[in-house]
Amino acid sequence: MLLLAFAPVLLLAVHHLHRARPGRRTTTRDIRKPNDVVVRRDFIRAMMWAAALLTLASCESGPGSAHDGPTTAPAAATSSPVSPVSPTSSSPSPSLTLPQPVTPGLTASRRTTGSAAVALTFDDGPDPAITPRLLDMLKANHVTATFCLVGSRVHSYPRLTARIAAEGHTLCNHSWSHAEHLYQRTDAQILHDLQRTNAEIRKAAPGAPIHYFRAPYGNFTPRLTGLAARLDLTSLGWSVDDQCYLIDRYGTGPAMVRHMSARVRRDTRPGSIILSHDLGKPQTLNTYRQLLPWLRTRYGLAAMPAGGLH
Ligand SMILES: [Zn+2]
Repeated sequence: MLLLAFAPVLLLAVHHLHRARPGRRTTTRDIRKPNDVVVRRDFIRAMMWAAALLTLASCESGPGSAHDGPTTAPAAATSSPVSPVSPTSSSPSPSLTLPQPVTPGLTASRRTTGSAAVALTFDDGPDPAITPRLLDMLKANHVTATFCLVGSRVHSYPRLTARIAAEGHTLCNHSWSHAEHLYQRTDAQILHDLQRTNAEIRKAAPGAPIHYFRAPYGNFTPRLTGLAARLDLTSLGWSVDDQCYLIDRYGTGPAMVRHMSARVRRDTRPGSIILSHDLGKPQTLNTYRQLLPWLRTRYGLAAMPAGGLH
């Protein structure tokens, strides 16, 4: 395309260089003469034509590639429309701006319950060592919560999955294998991952509604939440993080329990969604043993609605 556009430009430039002014013969000697300003002006004019034609050629071939590809929505949102460039302008065209990389995060997710109720969410299970004890504790305190389940773990522990659903907790799809960069996969791959996880949960707990999706590591993007919505899944973020994973700093003993409790007590408000983990986190059991009574006297604790948020 560019070559085709450039061929007449070159011919035009050569033509202008050799064109004779009316009433005057032009020779190769004339072109070299320092007083031949006219020839230079013709040359500049030819170059301006070349710039104009090249700009037209790039406008025709440019925008299509910028709007294709997996990050269609953010690219369309951030790119500016192509504006015509004057032949005399030397500034670069705004159409050359490349699409910005998508930064994943909680912005695209739901971070409050939409009511005064506070929701507890437990991620990454089921865990045969922790989840049964957590379920016992929740039952003893008459509290229901939301469990964000990893599909491959549901496959390994279907009876534990069935118990979670049977005891009135609501279920959240936390992807098949907890891949950190799930959001970078193609639409088809993401849909397959979420559908496979839903199918595994339904196999273990037939009839249990699944209306929530939590991206691994909270790495939500608008495209990912849009794909989840196609499967009737609300993207579930959080507003309080108990930081149970800061094991290097606090260990898993009393210092960690103090830290987690202090975080939750400080940050929880009516409508908060609290992020906690059951997989491999005995500190969660020790923390909630003291936190549950404290939370219950101050807030209404409720699982995310089983029917989803609309
Ligand atoms: Zn997780």
